[in-house]
Amino acid sequence: MPLYEFKCNKCEHTFDKVLSIKEMETVKLNCPQCESDDIKKLMSSGGIKIGLGGYKGKVR
Ligand SMILES: [Zn+2]
Repeated sequence: MPLYEFKCNKCEHTFDKVLSIKEMETVKLNCPQCESDDIKKLMSSGGIKIGLGGYKGKVR
């Protein structure tokens, strides 16, 4: 199942959740911090997080 990343528009807290496509359409999300439902979906990285300097792969 894909991992989605969300951001709260109210307190700017970011969190991620694993949801199926169907859940994604039906689920009601609330910010775990302030419980606001003003949630924005961020770009999904497909469950793989590659940050700056955090890439662990083959060293060329
Ligand atoms: Zn919030």
